[in-house]
Amino acid sequence: MQTVIQHSLDTNIAKQISVDFQIYNAHIRHQVCVDLNALRQQYQTDFNAVPKIDFAQVKLFIFDMDSTLINIECIDEIADFANLKPQIAALTRRAMCGELDFNISLIERTALLKGLDIGILERVYTERLALNPGGRALIEFFKNRGVKTAVVSGGFDFFSNRLAAEIGLNYARANKLGIKNSQLTGKVEGDIINAHAKAKFVIELCEICKISTGQAMVAGDGANDLEMMSIAGVSVAYHAKPVVVKNADIVINFGGLDKIIDFFVG
Ligand SMILES: [Mg+2]
Repeated sequence: MQTVIQHSLDTNIAKQISVDFQIYNAHIRHQVCVDLNALRQQYQTDFNAVPKIDFAQVKLFIFDMDSTLINIECIDEIADFANLKPQIAALTRRAMCGELDFNISLIERTALLKGLDIGILERVYTERLALNPGGRALIEFFKNRGVKTAVVSGGFDFFSNRLAAEIGLNYARANKLGIKNSQLTGKVEGDIINAHAKAKFVIELCEICKISTGQAMVAGDGANDLEMMSIAGVSVAYHAKPVVVKNADIVINFGGLDKIIDFFVG
């Protein structure tokens, strides 16, 4: 038997899959042995087996940024101002599905942005970027619980640093866009934050926080999140690409980020 969380309070669904269930404030727990993917498909609701770790020991939570913590892929929105969104978004999608080499894809996409005014970055941040649903509640929950939070992104630090400061994340790391004379140079400055660099950042933060990687939890949606997901104590696929869903401990396909709270309570 496994403990399964159903992230909606639809007790009719609960009754259909099990007579033995407990209702919590925000979710239902069952003692059942089930095919989770089949249930997700059938009821269009999130079902997850509770990972066998002590959630009280989780001391650090690391978010991927684009399409995980926030609602957009920043590079696609920058491209929109240059009427290049269809081309760049297609490349972003393929990279996130693991079909393209991340470094080559990022270099190619960034090169297409050469000459754009940096005022566009400001417009993307203020006009288009928002936290995904439940994000603020989840971050407040972690603050109250003393869990440190971080964002790591294969996108750009203009957005991650500002977001971290605005919502009170403890740490942030992302790629640096080249800028000259108030225009994008089309280059990424310094080391690229790819899958390996993301995992290294997780290890670095665990050392800073003096915890094991088993006490770190990560959430992501793209293929470049898989490496950091593999070293963390618990991984969450948030509205993620199929390859990420397949490899995650927890899958959120329908609910918001606040569904992650359900694992820490009850
Ligand atoms: Mg992402």
